[in-house]
Amino acid sequence: PIRPRAELDSVDTVCPYCGVGCALTYHVDRERGAIAFAEGRDQPGSQSRLCVKGRYGWDYAASPQRLTVPLIRRESAYPKGPLSADVRGERAGRTANDRGRVDGGERSGGGRNGKGRKPGGLVDYDEVMPAFREATWDEALDLVATRLGEIHARGGPGAIAGFGSAKCSNEEAYLFQKLIRVGFGTNNVDHCTRLCHASSVAALFEGIGSGAVSTTYGDVLNADVAILTGSNATANHPVASSFFKQARRRGTKIIYIDPRAGTVADHADIHCQLKPGTDVAFYNAIMHEVIRLGLIDREFIAARTANYDALARTVADYPPERAATITGVDADTIREVARIWGRARAGVIYWGMGISQHTTGTDNARCLIALCAITGNVGRPGTGLHPLRGQNNVQGASDAGLIPMFYPDYQGVGRDSIREHFERAWGTTLDPNTGLTVTEIVGSILQPDGVRGMYMLGENPFLSDPNINKVRKALAALDFLVVQDIFLTETAEFADVILPASSYLEKDGTYTNTDRRVQLGRKVLDPPGQARVDWEIEQDIARRIGLDWNYSGPSEIFDEMVALMPSYANLSYANLGLSGKLYPNDDPEHSDGLVVMFDERFNTDDGLAHLVPAEWLPAKELPDVEYPLVLNTGRLLEHWHTGSMTRRSFALDAISPVAEVYMHPKDAVDRGLTHGERVRVRSRRGTIELALRVSHREQLGNVFIPFHFREAAANLLTIDEIDPFGKIPEFKFCAVQVEALGAP
Ligand code: SF4
Repeated sequence: PIRPRAELDSVDTVCPYCGVGCALTYHVDRERGAIAFAEGRDQPGSQSRLCVKGRYGWDYAASPQRLTVPLIRRESAYPKGPLSADVRGERAGRTANDRGRVDGGERSGGGRNGKGRKPGGLVDYDEVMPAFREATWDEALDLVATRLGEIHARGGPGAIAGFGSAKCSNEEAYLFQKLIRVGFGTNNVDHCTRLCHASSVAALFEGIGSGAVSTTYGDVLNADVAILTGSNATANHPVASSFFKQARRRGTKIIYIDPRAGTVADHADIHCQLKPGTDVAFYNAIMHEVIRLGLIDREFIAARTANYDALARTVADYPPERAATITGVDADTIREVARIWGRARAGVIYWGMGISQHTTGTDNARCLIALCAITGNVGRPGTGLHPLRGQNNVQGASDAGLIPMFYPDYQGVGRDSIREHFERAWGTTLDPNTGLTVTEIVGSILQPDGVRGMYMLGENPFLSDPNINKVRKALAALDFLVVQDIFLTETAEFADVILPASSYLEKDGTYTNTDRRVQLGRKVLDPPGQARVDWEIEQDIARRIGLDWNYSGPSEIFDEMVALMPSYANLSYANLGLSGKLYPNDDPEHSDGLVVMFDERFNTDDGLAHLVPAEWLPAKELPDVEYPLVLNTGRLLEHWHTGSMTRRSFALDAISPVAEVYMHPKDAVDRGLTHGERVRVRSRRGTIELALRVSHREQLGNVFIPFHFREAAANLLTIDEIDPFGKIPEFKFCAVQVEALGAP
C-alpha cells in the first residue's frame, strides 16, 4: 500500500545518473524502509525537471541482488575460471555473450548476496557465487592489505594501480587517489573520465588552462547561436537538452553537427550529418570561412590569444569544397554555418563524446576551442565552451585528483613546487612521475614488470572498456584484484576479494555536475546487510597499510580537499545549501557562483588562449570489403553505462529490455535483413548477436549499438586504439559487418 504523502519522509538530494545533476526529493516510507516516489526540486540547473532515469531509476538500490557481505574467492576457484577461461576464448563452443541472455533470464529468488538470482542479461549469480565464500570485514580487509602490500614490496609502487569511480562522491574520489598516492607511492590512479572526456580536458587544459566548462548549459538562453556537436543530448543529458529546446523557442539558432540524426536533430535549425571521424575537417572549414569573410574578432585575437597565425595557415588549406569531400556535408551548408556563427553576437558550443571518443579527440576539441576564441565567443554571457560531462560526478572525481597526471584541482604531479606542496600537506614523499591511465594500465598488466595488483572501486572495465576480450585477459591475469561495488559486476566475477559498498542513496557526500555545481547528496536509506559506506572502507584499508587516517565524516574530508583546491575555495557543507554552489565562488553565503568564466584572462600561465592547429586524420580502422560498416557506440535514454543500475530498475528495464543494433533501411535491405530479426555483428576483435532496429536516424554505411548490454557487449567489437594526448579510446569508430544469423 502507498502511504499518503503527508506520512512520508522527504530527503533532498541529487540524481545519481548523468552529469546534469538534477536536484530531486525522495519521499520515503520509513515503516517499509523504502522510497515511495521521487520528484524534481528547484535548483538553477534543473528547475524541478527530471528525466525518466531520475524519476524512476532508483529502485535498483533495493534489489535483492545487492552485495551485503564481504566475499573471498575460494582456494578451489583458482586458477580463475571457468568463466575467465570462457572469455579468453579458451572454452570451445561458447562465447562471453552466450551467458545470461535477456531471453533466458528470470527474476525470481533472492537472499544474501543475491544467491538464487538469475537476472536477465546480468551476471549469473548462481554460476559465479560458488567461487566465493562469505567473510568477515576484518578478514577481507586484512587480506586486501596483506596481498596489496606483498605485491608492493615485491614489485614496487608501479606494481599497484587503482580505478576509482565517477559514481562515488568527491570525498571518496579524493580519499581514493590519496590512498593510492600516499599508501602505495604511485600515480597509477584513474577512472572513467579516460573513457569519456579525457581528450576534451587535455585540449581545454592546454588551450585555456582549465578542464572545466567555461559556462553553464543554462547559459544557452543568452546565446544567439548554439552549436551542439557529437551529442545525442535528448538521450544522454535530457534535462540539459530541455534548456536547448527552450532556447530555440526563444530564438536561439541551434546548429546540430553529428553523424546520427538523434532526436536532437528534430529541434535543430540546421543538422550537418557529417561522416564519422571528420570533425577536424569540418571545423577547420568553418574557421576558413569565418576568416575569409572577416568575421573574426581581431581585438579579442590580439589581446586574448596566442598562435593565431599558425592556426590561420592550417585552416587556409580547408576550403569548404575540400571539407565537403571529406565530411559529406555540402560546401554551401558549411558556408551557411560559418556565416551564422561568425555573425552571432553570442555563440556557445556544447559537445559530447562524438567529439571526444576518437583517436583525434583532442584535435577535435582543439578546433572547437579555436573556433570560439577567434570569434571572441568566450567570457561573455551566452558564449563559451562546454563539454557535457557524462557521469554524475566525473567532473568532481577529476577535480579531486582521480587522474594520473594531476593532484586535486589539476595541479601537475610533475611540477616540483606543486609536488612539494602536496608532500607537506599529506606528510609523505610522492612519486614525481605521471602514472598510467586506464588504457595503459590494462596494457601494463600484460608486461612482465607491469601492474600486478589492483583496487577497483565501482568501475566495471570488463564491460565498459574497448576490446574487452583483451581487457578481460589482462585483468584476469592480475595476481590480486579487490573489487568494491554494490553488485556482482562482470569485473567482480574475476575478483579475489569483493567488498560490499553503498549506493549514493546510503551516504552523504558532494557531487559536482557538468556546470561546476557542487551539490550535497544526502543519505536516504541505510546500506543493506553489512554493506558499508565507501569512504569508510577506504579509510580502513589505509589504516591497515600504515596510514594514520581518522576522518570523522565526509564534511571533514571535504574541508581537507577544499584547502588544497583553489577552485573550490570558500565552499563548505554549511554553505552549499539545497541548490549547491557553482565554483569558483568568492562568497557562497550570498552568491550562487560564477556562471561565465574567463571574462578577463584564461587560466594559462600567460593568461592567453593558446590556439592549437590540427590537421584532419582518418580513423584508425577504416571500412573495407570484409568489414564495410562503421560502428558507433553510445547510450540510450533509459539505461546507464554497463547497466548495473538501470537494468535492475524495474521501469527502465521494462521500457528498454533488449539490445539492438540500429541500421539505415537501405543497409538492411542490401543485406536482406528485416526489422526485429536477430543478426550477427562482427569486427576483427569479436562477434555479438542481437536484434536489428531499422532506423532512418542512422547514416548509410553506419550502425549504432548501445554498450549497456552484457549479453551483446558492444565493446567486444570496439578497437583499443587511443588518442595520443587524452589517451581516450576510439569508441565512435571501428569497422564491422552485420549479417543474418544463418550466414556462413
Ligand atoms: Fe538524472 Fe541526468 Fe535525467 Fe537529470 S537529466 S534526471 S541528472 S539522468
